[in-house]
Amino acid sequence: MMALTVETCPQCGAPASANRRKCEYCKSEFFISDLSQVAGKSSTEVQKYVSFYKSNIAKDDGDADSVTGLGLCYLQLKLFKEAAQFLEKGRDLAPERPSTYFYLAMAIMGRKRPKILSRTDVQKVEELLEAAISLDSDYAAAHALLAIVRHDYYELNGLRCPGTPPAALVGRAKTGKWARADHERMVELNNYPDNEYCDLLIDLRAIIKS
Ligand SMILES: [Zn+2]
Repeated sequence: MMALTVETCPQCGAPASANRRKCEYCKSEFFISDLSQVAGKSSTEVQKYVSFYKSNIAKDDGDADSVTGLGLCYLQLKLFKEAAQFLEKGRDLAPERPSTYFYLAMAIMGRKRPKILSRTDVQKVEELLEAAISLDSDYAAAHALLAIVRHDYYELNGLRCPGTPPAALVGRAKTGKWARADHERMVELNNYPDNEYCDLLIDLRAIIKS
């Protein structure tokens, strides 16, 4: 797959040198691949990325970086339906990236607490998180989110929990690799109730290295 040619920086408008992925003037990355890259930005700056990715997609709707980047912007803006649509397409275009599965799971969950999700959505979220873990077995945030979803949906609804049980997943979340941004986005974007697993997510903050 050919990468799109970037002519100007989406953030400051400076001309971009050939094959550069980062602005030489304002140092912005042209393509975002995780939420930490937009988390600290103003809505104006996020909108600049949205416009840039949309215009790239108009030229080439198979550009995985632009499709995934647009999905991440929508997730940051809490437009969960649009985020899910583009992250799913980004996942199909570049199925080797574990983070896209994780962010797609977050988009499907939206602001609903896991306990009240539909069974179809819960199973979809589980499949996505398991796929992220199979691509990266140290993906701590994916283990933690899967533990929270399984505890809240199955255990608290009195249902039999399939697969690896929440307590074991939490153990893996503690020993895996954490990105502080993933942790902060999880706490801010989704809706977690007060229960032991969600409290544990908050507590995990202490062991996360930035
Ligand atoms: Zn720039």
